[in-house]
Formats: sequence, C-alpha cells, structure tokens
Amino acid sequence: MKKNVIAMAGVVCMAALLTACAGSGTKTATTAADQKEDTGKLVMVTNAEFPPYEYHDNNQIVGIDADIAKAIADKMGVELEIQDMAFDSLIPAVQSGKADFAAAGMTVNEDRKKNVEFTDTYAEAAQVIIVKEGSEVKTPDDLTGKKIGVQTGTTGDIYADDVENADIQRFNKGMEAVMSLSQGKIDAVIIDREPAKVFVKENEGLVILDEAFTEEEYAIAIKKGNTELLEKMNGAIKELKESGELKKIVDKYITAE
Ligand code: GLN
Repeated sequence: MKKNVIAMAGVVCMAALLTACAGSGTKTATTAADQKEDTGKLVMVTNAEFPPYEYHDNNQIVGIDADIAKAIADKMGVELEIQDMAFDSLIPAVQSGKADFAAAGMTVNEDRKKNVEFTDTYAEAAQVIIVKEGSEVKTPDDLTGKKIGVQTGTTGDIYADDVENADIQRFNKGMEAVMSLSQGKIDAVIIDREPAKVFVKENEGLVILDEAFTEEEYAIAIKKGNTELLEKMNGAIKELKESGELKKIVDKYITAE
C-alpha cells in the first residue's frame, strides 16, 4: 500500500511536470529575480547641485560622491542607482527606506545623528564665506547684520542662524545664492569650500574669504539600525582609503592649485 502511494505520487508529479510544473518553474524564477532586486541594487540619493561632489553632466549625475558610491557598490557586488532630490529631502528619504543611503557632501553633525547613521568620514570640509570683491565683509565677524544667502537645510543655513541680526535668504541651490550675490541682492554666501571654489571660478567679481566659517567632515547617511549596510560600507570606505583609490577619485575632480 505504501509503495502504491509513492508510485501514485510519482504519476502525479509526472503529470505536474507536463502541465502545472511549467507554471511553478516560472514562479521560482520570478522569486529569484525579486530577491535579486532586494539585495542586488543600492539606491543612493543626492542633491546634484554641489560640484565637484555631485552635479549634472550630460544628463548623468557625476562627481566625487557618485564615484565613491560606485566604487563601494562595486566592492559589494551590487548595482548603484542614483536619484536626485532637494537637499532637505535626503535624510527623510533615508529614514523612510525610499533610499539605502544619501551621499551628498553631507556634514556629520549631532542633530542629523539623531535621525540617521553615519559611515566613517571620507572627506574634510569647511563652510566658507563668498563675497563680492572689495566687500566690507572681510572676516566672519563682519557678517553681523548682513544679508546672507545659504542653501536650505545645509550646515551653512544652520550656522547663518547664529549670526547676530543677519537677514538669511534661503535658496534651493547653492548656485542660486551665488547668483543673487553677483546681482548685489545679498552681501555674502555661506557654503562648502569646494563648491564655493567652483562657483567663484564661474562668476567674475567674487572672492572667498581666507578665514573659514567652520571646519567639518563628510560621511554617508544610512537608515538607523541598518548595521549590516553600515559595516559593509565602512569596510569598503576603509579599503578605498588604504588602496589610494579614494584619493584618486578626489584628484580626478579637484586639481591642486
Ligand atoms: N555640507 C553641507 C551640509 O551637509 C552642504 C551639503 C550640500 O549642500 N550638498 O549641510
């Protein structure tokens, strides 16, 4: 009797092979593909208005962060997708899981640490002050009571808040703040050093003050609790630092003056 059951099962399976088995085969394949989607791609968000870290070039998002993220994804054996959004949407996108990480010349600070996890830092940065040539603003102290342009939600925005009696004008893009300065509508722009250099080069009559406003460091933001990704990314960043690959990427975009 037992034998018969097994034999019967064999017949059922044979039948299944000819008919329903095709269906179940397809189903297995779909599941594997789904899994690949879950684990095989990293979604990075950034604000591609921040040269040389991220900017548009022929419909592509390029720059130091894009290259670093690509190198990290390569090391992890996964694909990378980059999405562009407003700077102040980056942390919410990471928190909600819409993105796996944000790489956007993002400064590590205590407030942000409450909402996201940061990887090890990969660059030193600073907030600097751009003014018009011949401006009476010559040091950070001279900003008191002035009209200051910043990019919304950035550390420049946060620090400008501390300047006494300042009239802070917020822009979606750093470049828009710089344009406003060029047109004489504001007195100064507080922004990160490397983008500042690019913007000043592209717009005549502007200078960067020697004295930086603050010193800071950049890191990649990851969803809180995603320790697996954090460890993988930190491992990759360490390798990129040790192999000299990170320096090579930076040198590709920032030429020593
Ligand atoms: N480093 C600044 C910050 O983290 C600005 C970054 C940016 O504009 N992409 O706020």
